[in-house]
Amino acid sequence: MHIRTKNKRETEKIASILAKEVARARVGKGAAIIALSGNLGAGKTTFAQGFARALGIRERVLSPTFVIMKIYAVQKRIWTRHFVHIDCYRMRSACDIAPLGVKEIFKDTRAIVVVEWPERIRRLIPRNALWVRFRHGKRESERDIYILRK
Ligand code: ADP
Ligand code: MG
Repeated sequence: MHIRTKNKRETEKIASILAKEVARARVGKGAAIIALSGNLGAGKTTFAQGFARALGIRERVLSPTFVIMKIYAVQKRIWTRHFVHIDCYRMRSACDIAPLGVKEIFKDTRAIVVVEWPERIRRLIPRNALWVRFRHGKRESERDIYILRK
């Protein structure tokens, strides 16, 4: 599926629609994983923020580029307990992130995980992950968003 957004707010809106969909229906075994790929500034963190807000997370979701991973409690009464935001920008390979327990998090059936720069840890990303690709559009604040199954 392809969606073109005209501004940041529209990207947040698309994220919130997807978040509600994911929160409503279990995707499969293990965590629900959403891999966000695209260049710097393409809108991945913006999407993660819209996604988190739709799950009822009030804390400000910041770009975790320097943090690598942040776990937020989900207060809403849905199947998930944690929203996990991972940024692999600084990772060179899956080995770098293994000590953080990412494999275990991916197995957690009560977690929703959003991963920026997923290609850096591609072999760790389960096959049932949803892939969302972001591209800069022709205009300054236009973005092309593609929602795919791997
Ligand atoms: P990434 O995490 O992919 O590096 P960010 O979400 O941090 O990207 O940054 C995207 C930047 O682009 C933000 O400054 C945001 O305001 C801006 N922007 C402009 N138009 C859009 C749009 N249509 N969707 C998302 N972000 C947009
Ligand atoms: Mg980012």
